[in-house]
Amino acid sequence: MPLIDLRSDTVTQPTAAMREAMMAAELGDDVYGEDPTVNRLETWLANELGFAAALFVPSGTMSNLLGLMAHCERGDEYIVGQQAHTYKYEGGGAAVLGSIQPQPIDGEADGSLDLAKVEAAIKQDDFHFARTRLLALENTMQGKVLPLDYLAAARELTRRRGLSLHLDGARLYNAAVKLGVPAREITQHFDSVSVCLSKGLGAPVGSVLCGSAALIAKARRLRKMVGGGMRQAGGLAAACLYALQHQVQRLADDHANAAHLGGALAELGYSVEPVQTNMVYVQLGERAEQIKSFMAERGIVVSAAPRLRLVTHLDVDSADIERVIEAFAAFRSH
Ligand SMILES: *Cc1c(COP(=O)(O)O)cnc(C)c1O
Repeated sequence: MPLIDLRSDTVTQPTAAMREAMMAAELGDDVYGEDPTVNRLETWLANELGFAAALFVPSGTMSNLLGLMAHCERGDEYIVGQQAHTYKYEGGGAAVLGSIQPQPIDGEADGSLDLAKVEAAIKQDDFHFARTRLLALENTMQGKVLPLDYLAAARELTRRRGLSLHLDGARLYNAAVKLGVPAREITQHFDSVSVCLSKGLGAPVGSVLCGSAALIAKARRLRKMVGGGMRQAGGLAAACLYALQHQVQRLADDHANAAHLGGALAELGYSVEPVQTNMVYVQLGERAEQIKSFMAERGIVVSAAPRLRLVTHLDVDSADIERVIEAFAAFRSH
């Protein structure tokens, strides 16, 4: 019985066609700027998202870190959500490595940051204070899509107050597919965007930071500094290009599977948060302790948490979802 792994959309295996693209990639030394496939990926994504330049990096953590460090100097500050990945799940890298002070604020139920709270958090120009330089948003945020008119309002605020605007777009394409718009409709509002190719898009490794030519030149220097300069990285870049060209529209299947799963679990009596994209959050309370081993016995891999996250991806099909629903039905009556 093959395992169904719902912990994350990072667990996908490269498809046969993706592996072929990786094997066929033309290679060079990317630290010298000579890997043709990496260069093609950077140019392709910068064009698609409406930026002058882009930089291929090993992880989304590094992509966000370089973005924040390229925007902010030591003693600068960025405003960020309390639950945001850059603040909570990246080892505090912006503070540790960039000497950038985070100013976290509580997020709203829809995944946004209240712009009145953001504006109130911007510090005056006063030597007592860190210099507020940047607002960082995340989209999708725990599976929730930020509305386009909200992004326009965030752009207006940051422009008016002289801040830069960064997007952690680890799941940018989930948001774009859900909204039914080209990804550029989302990214047009930002000064920089980090995109993960190793999440739902299904590449094994890789993220890309997009921005102005000056910002990316700065990020390229920083990438070397933090050890992210890779040599014949074209095989990985080929997987990323393949993902962007062939595996974007199928994200709609993941969203449909997640919606079906969420609906079925709600019918079984579970407390399920509304599902927008590829994530289903279930409140398990004290039963969280038992779920992991119960599911493992049935070939289903989940992380034990009171607020359980189930993530659909390209290695989970609709038959798998039925198996998962059956297992949750059994767990309910267990
Ligand atoms: C996964 C993720 C990242 C980056 O993660 P890496 O594992 O470093 O590639 C950044 N932001 C969000 C929202 C993520 O889900």
